[in-house]
This record gives sequence, structure tokens and C-alpha cells, in this order.
Amino acid sequence: MDLKGKNCLVTGGSRGIGKSIALTLAKLGANVAITYARSVDAANEVVKEIEALGVNSVSFQADAVQFERAEEVINEIVGAWGSLDVLVNNAGITKDNLILRMDEQAWDDVITTNLKSIFNYSKAATKPMMRARGGSVINISSVVGISGNAGQSNYSASKAGIIGFTKSYAKELASRNIRANVVAPGYILTEMTGSLNEKVLEAIKQETPLGRAGEPEEISNVVAFLASGLSSYITGEVIRVDGGMAM
Ligand code: NDP
Repeated sequence: MDLKGKNCLVTGGSRGIGKSIALTLAKLGANVAITYARSVDAANEVVKEIEALGVNSVSFQADAVQFERAEEVINEIVGAWGSLDVLVNNAGITKDNLILRMDEQAWDDVITTNLKSIFNYSKAATKPMMRARGGSVINISSVVGISGNAGQSNYSASKAGIIGFTKSYAKELASRNIRANVVAPGYILTEMTGSLNEKVLEAIKQETPLGRAGEPEEISNVVAFLASGLSSYITGEVIRVDGGMAM
């Protein structure tokens, strides 16, 4: 796999899966910009790690729910680097609760952060990708967007919405040589899953045929494949990376 000279943006690249994706793309030769919401120091650290690999990097404090900020970020990248070739929509949050106990705020926050953000950044990336006569958009969903999960109705709805959005986007932009695909992770070890208690974690492992949690790198390797020319005939696809959990 080779991404030399490609200009990439990873939303939510300061921590967890997004950080791993940013570093993997950079190791393959890409210039990588990241966005984040709050973690200034962590984001600066990721930029330093990427630059140490001999490629360009920049970070933007940009709440993914802000429509106009998405266009600003992408315009800055294109202004500085000349193009945007790969967009990875990774930023996401959970606010879990049973439907009976879930308040309106928890619903709205998760839907706007996880789903509206994908519209914001994909839309802003479309014109530059059309000008460049191609691009690859990779959206991070979740297995629960396929299977549903008690206590995660807001999160599951946002992640299922990502799949519908991506397939529509892929159909609209295929004639422009812009591909769009979904990666649906299972249970991956990050801060997001760090707060789950031992009992829940054990149950998740029991439900996973490969019998273990995944590492962020196991997601970023698939994202790198979808970003690269090796996946040139794949669009509108959903790839589960879940140890077989949703099989
Ligand atoms: P983390 O909580 O470890 O990291 C989340 C990242 O998203 C951080 O960089 C965070 O920035 C950023 N972020 C959160 N909210 C916003 C926002 N409003 N605007 C911009 N950036 C934001 O999560 P993971 O790495 O575990 O998850 C990454 C993606 O993978 C998410 O979409 C998640 O739903 C998905 N996923 C994760 C699974 C898992 O098991 N971990 C399973 C399935 C899917 P900051 O540091 O500033 O807060």
C-alpha cells in the first residue's frame, strides 16, 4: 500500500481510533490533517508524531457539528496542500441510556455529533474532490448500526444513518470517481470503551467469535486499504471489522 503525496483529513484524530488512522496513513506517505473538539495537547502530540515520519500535518480545533467550520477546515487544507484526496469521518461520541431514561439532549448530541458531522465534512470535501477528479471518503460506523443495541438507540441510529448516507453519497459521486465506504468496528480498546465495566466487557468478548477486543490498528489498516488504490473498484461497501461479532 502506498499513499505518497495523498492529502488526507481525519476528524477526531487526537485520540483512539482516529489517532491510529492518522498515524497509519502518515506511515504510508500521506500528509495528514486532523480535527478534534477539546484535546489540544493530544492533538499537538499527534501532529508532532506525524511530522516525525517526514510528511506534513496540521490540526484544527473544530467541533464536527459545526457546518461552516467544516468548509473552513477543508478550504484551509486545500489552500495549503493543493487538494484533499482522502476524508475519514471518524469523530464520534456515545451517551448511552435506555430509551425510557434517555433525555432529548442525549439523543440530539449523539445524532448531530455522529451523523450531521458526516454530512458537514462530506459535503465540504465534494467540490475539491471533484476538481481533483477523484477521492475516497471513509466513514466510521459501528456494528451496532447494523445489529442495534439495547441502551444505545441514539448511537445505533446515528451509526445506521451513516450507512444510508454513505451509500447515497457513493451513488451520487461515483461518476466523478469519488468512492465512499463504511468501516463498522466491533469492540475496540480505546477511551470510549474504557468506561465499560468488567461484566459488560466479558459479555462482549463472549459474543465475539475471535474471542477478544480489537486494537485501533486493526481498524486503521482497513481504512488505509480503502484510502489506497488497492480498493479502486470498491464503493458503497460496509466492511465490518469486529472479530465476527455481527456475523
Ligand atoms: P474516542 O472517544 O477514543 O475518541 C473520539 C475522538 O473524536 C477524539 O479525537 C475526540 O476529540 C473526537 N471528537 C468527539 N467529539 C467531537 C466533536 N464534536 N468534534 C470533533 N471531534 C470530536 O473514540 P474512539 O476512538 O473509540 O472512536 C472513534 C470512532 O469509532 C467513533 O466514531 C466511534 O463511534 C467509532 N467506534 C468505536 C468503537 C470502539 O469500540 N471504540 C466501536 C465502533 C465504532 P477530543 O479528543 O477533542 O475529545
